[in-house]
Amino acid sequence: MSSENKSGAGSIQSGNFQVRVHRDRCIGAGHCATYAPDVFAQDASDGLVILLNENPPADQIDLVKDAESHCPSGTIEIVAKS
Ligand code: SF4
Repeated sequence: MSSENKSGAGSIQSGNFQVRVHRDRCIGAGHCATYAPDVFAQDASDGLVILLNENPPADQIDLVKDAESHCPSGTIEIVAKS
């Protein structure tokens, strides 16, 4: 009955996920671009996240999960593809 994964990321299968960012929440901490530089970058002008690839390859899932878990503002969302 309980659900420990707010984003559902724990149940995401490799190659079956999509990344979204809620840019209005981003505070420009930059952890995402450090953990998954092929998926996230920071805007040079305001430091806010830029989503480079909303459909990363399967081998990026662990890096994207690290970015999501280390983002201090809940900007990153990992969703299962239907
Ligand atoms: S880690 Fe989160 S708050 Fe920091 S730049 Fe990335 S999305 Fe924005």
